[in-house]
Amino acid sequence: MAAILIKGSEISKQIREELKQEVALLKAKHNLVPGLATILVGQDEASKVYVGQKEKACKELGIHSERIDLPGNTTETDLLALIEKLNKDSRIHGILVQLPLPKHINETNVLYAIDPKKDVDGFHPVNVGKLMLGEPSYIPCTPHGIQELLIRTGVETDGAEVVVVGRSNIVGKPIANMLLQKKKGANATVTICHTGTKNLVFHTKRADILIVAAGKPKTITADMVKEGVVVIDVGVNRLETGLVGDVDFEAVKEKAKAITPVPGGVGPMTISMLMHNTVQAAKMQAEIK
Ligand code: NAP
Repeated sequence: MAAILIKGSEISKQIREELKQEVALLKAKHNLVPGLATILVGQDEASKVYVGQKEKACKELGIHSERIDLPGNTTETDLLALIEKLNKDSRIHGILVQLPLPKHINETNVLYAIDPKKDVDGFHPVNVGKLMLGEPSYIPCTPHGIQELLIRTGVETDGAEVVVVGRSNIVGKPIANMLLQKKKGANATVTICHTGTKNLVFHTKRADILIVAAGKPKTITADMVKEGVVVIDVGVNRLETGLVGDVDFEAVKEKAKAITPVPGGVGPMTISMLMHNTVQAAKMQAEIK
């Protein structure tokens, strides 16, 4: 039986509608307009598209958006000075530096310079540490989107065998950490696989929920999953034939209970969760519950 499609594009619309109402309420009741600054250094085409999408989403929701495009030869010192200025700007509640940065700029220095209270990407070590401890923090947008997809489609994580393929700091590690917390929408038994994993298929075949963030097409084929698995495909690979994920979608969907398509699965959720984090940041900074 073919799998149910987990349509991130539709769930994402629902989230944005909820956020739009929350933003309108914040304005009406507290005269508060959440503000997001996005910084783009250089001319990377994919980054330009992502920043444009973020700007558009802000507009759609009534969030104040400040887009700062800097030339590719911007120095690290100048970028750090700009972040310092935005850290102090009361109209800006969230700061996002679009990655990757040009090679002459140290990414870590830049991400560490963002005030953790304005770190809506959830990449600052303070927020990473809080996430690990299970304390309230800004959750990185893609893993946050994955957890929302699971919750909103009624996928039971409590006691589930979750296998995550990929251990990056922006997807694999945070989603694994989130799903192992003793909380609602989590409490799973989590295994993380990577290129050092000796027998990948041994692990993937055990998964009730398989989350794949490897960055390579067909990392997961139908013989690697069990019947009835829920598959979350995070991968975005641009082939000549178009966008594909990391999972052999056509074959795996015949065995899975539910699966995210690419495009239209995890992708649209990421920006919605950024908007969510920006609204949370504004409320937290204005001390509104
Ligand atoms: P990344 O930093 O390149 O990490 C990939 C991870 O996958 C690494 O941990 C790597 O292991 C592991 N891996 C690669 N091939 C493997 C294999 N054959 N078997 C087991 N493990 C394997 O990638 P990322 O930033 O996490 O992104 C992953 C994918 O998600 C990319 O396609 C990216 O474009 C996409 N993505 C999508 C969104 C979205 O919004 N939809 C957001 C972020 C990322 P090692 O650590 O051993 O190298």
